Amino acid sequence: MLTTWSFGPVGNDAAFPGLASGGEALDAVVHAATVFEDDPSIDSVGVGGLPDADGVVTLDGAIMTDPNRCGAVCFVNHFANPVQIARRVMEKTIHITLVGDGAERFAEREGFQRRELLVERAREVWMQWRTDPSAIDRDMYQGWLPPINIEELEGIDQTKRRGGPAGSHDTVGMIARDVQGRLAAACTTSGMAFKVPGRVGDSAIIGQGLYCDQEAGAAVATGTGELITGVNGAFLIVELMRRGATPEEAITETLERVRKRYKLVDEHQVAFIAADARGNWGSGALRPGFRHTFTDGGGTRVEDPGVELEE
Ligand code: ASP
Repeated sequence: MLTTWSFGPVGNDAAFPGLASGGEALDAVVHAATVFEDDPSIDSVGVGGLPDADGVVTLDGAIMTDPNRCGAVCFVNHFANPVQIARRVMEKTIHITLVGDGAERFAEREGFQRRELLVERAREVWMQWRTDPSAIDRDMYQGWLPPINIEELEGIDQTKRRGGPAGSHDTVGMIARDVQGRLAAACTTSGMAFKVPGRVGDSAIIGQGLYCDQEAGAAVATGTGELITGVNGAFLIVELMRRGATPEEAITETLERVRKRYKLVDEHQVAFIAADARGNWGSGALRPGFRHTFTDGGGTRVEDPGVELEE
């Protein structure tokens, strides 16, 4: 199991035993995603996620094993486990993506329980940001100004605003490979902290935040969604692997494309994890700060990525 970020062990360690005893990769990524989503101390997914500019937590999540086997939900704000709901969309409907109110009504019909997603700590951080962005931890939030409405955006330096707060790029992405060699990918997020209400990022969009094809491999993204969307990041990595690139080469080429095509600001970060159909895997980030978590029969390791494009 390969997971984005250093808090990966909590999900990997919960899901790996099932995988090791012959369980399906798909079940493993759903299990791990659920553990992350239910952990209120992780402020980028599920319960405990940081809210949008209006103080509302909205979640996006997706799951994929193949081009014809994927599901996603976006803009869910009363249910904590978007990856489980995405799996139901995949298995029980002819569609791939449900959003907002429709996704919620579907979840309700499927028996998911409504939950409060905004925890006190996240509410406090939002209140602080809302009233005085400069009072928030400067390392994390410097340069990020509240996108309250179009009029107020005028006159604000857009290059300082677009990336979201540095350090908020913590979407959890997972790739699992089971004993039969089947791959599955999942991605779950509360999106960019304090985003403009209505904004959906890359994470639950098939091809952008995640992509999986048993014939080529799987990739999952984390970071500033707008940068990942523009290059169709996860799809691009899988297609490069299909044409013979190693996971690390494919990630490097995709990160280089991001660097070339965007005017990057300090708050921007993009990172990917990837695995090919033969079981080779890798990770990479635009900038230092990203770590992945890898679990196999030998245990769980939190490691620096194989690639960091910038010092
Ligand atoms: N990629 C996510 C999004 O843009 C958030 C993140 O990982 O920073 O919604």
